[in-house]
Amino acid sequence: MKRTAIVMRRMAVPFQSALTLTTRSHTTLMSPPLVSLDLPDIWPPNSAHFHFPVNCSNEHRAVEINGRLIAEEIRSGIASDVKRMKKSIGKVPGLAVVMVGQRRDSQTYVRNKIKACEEVGIISTTTQLPGDCTEEQVVNALSRFNVDPSIHGILVQLPLPQHLDEGKILDVLSLEKDVDGFHPLIMGSLAMKGREPLFIPCTPKGCIELLIRSGVEIMGKKAVVVGRSNIVGLPTSLLLQRHHATVSVVHAFTENPEQLTCEADIVITAAGVPNLIRGNWLKPGAVVIDVGTNPVEDPSCEHGYYLIGDVCYEEAVRVVSAITPVPGGVGPMTIAMLLSNTLDSAKRAYDFT
Ligand code: NAD
Repeated sequence: MKRTAIVMRRMAVPFQSALTLTTRSHTTLMSPPLVSLDLPDIWPPNSAHFHFPVNCSNEHRAVEINGRLIAEEIRSGIASDVKRMKKSIGKVPGLAVVMVGQRRDSQTYVRNKIKACEEVGIISTTTQLPGDCTEEQVVNALSRFNVDPSIHGILVQLPLPQHLDEGKILDVLSLEKDVDGFHPLIMGSLAMKGREPLFIPCTPKGCIELLIRSGVEIMGKKAVVVGRSNIVGLPTSLLLQRHHATVSVVHAFTENPEQLTCEADIVITAAGVPNLIRGNWLKPGAVVIDVGTNPVEDPSCEHGYYLIGDVCYEEAVRVVSAITPVPGGVGPMTIAMLLSNTLDSAKRAYDFT
């Protein structure tokens, strides 16, 4: 049977089945746990890793890492835990969202988060403030949620209008409820060996979760993170180091970034530059997680635009062994991780296991 046919069939199967596929090397995988920072210094010797097939012929196409399916699996686990919590102690997790202004993209993100909460049984509440509100109004809203015992997670939808000091506002957030994980103390804990941050920032956590659940070995591998923002690039590079990867960070001032990316076993990109990463920037067999979510105007589309990633997908699929699509890769995982952090926070608050 032709290799393409095998690959195409593999791409079509649901993720759980993909995990248990028997490859030519007879690797069988079990569903791994959610990202844990409590990693052993030595990886369990019998942990099996899935090796994506690489075929250097023109017919090669990478396996698509389906973030929607993986996120769905995680959300269903969260829904069962919420149900169990309600049945056993009569409580459910609560998430509060503070939104300032009327940015359409932010409104869509918030709507999706609220809907996802509803679907798993997490209660949610949104405070909508006008775009010209004062810092004090935002701080007051956050302070109310900080002391509300029915709220276990608070998020401020970013970006905030320019006249508001984002750092000052985020500092007001109770550390115990910062489910986005943007607080400097969380970032500091993530960077320091032996420290356990209360939350892992959602998008980086989602990226690592995609790798782990796809059976990609991280330990000892060369990883490149493209982008060093506080919300994606920086925490992703810290998290990869926690998982014992050797990490390089590429940013807007990096000279010859392709020399670093083409040696990497794992590339996680969050630059916000469409098609930045070309096929010849990538090592054959590498695994690519594309966080970039870049709108391209197209009046023929329903919303007047469509989304593409940082990676030139059609070139990359011919080189790498596995890649996330945009949309349908990291995006759904970010929301699943937000739900997971909110649930963890409620479990901590109620001492529920
Ligand atoms: P940002 O603008 O804060 O940071 C971008 C980073 O990329 C910077 O560190 C910059 O140095 C680097 N960069 C810019 N141009 C570069 C270039 N040409 N070469 C190398 N590095 C370059 O952006 P962000 O908030 O980190 O978001 C990055 C992308 O990820 C955006 O497309 C955003 O929409 C997307 N995103 C997606 C999710 C999700 O859930 N899918 C979540 C957050 C962000």
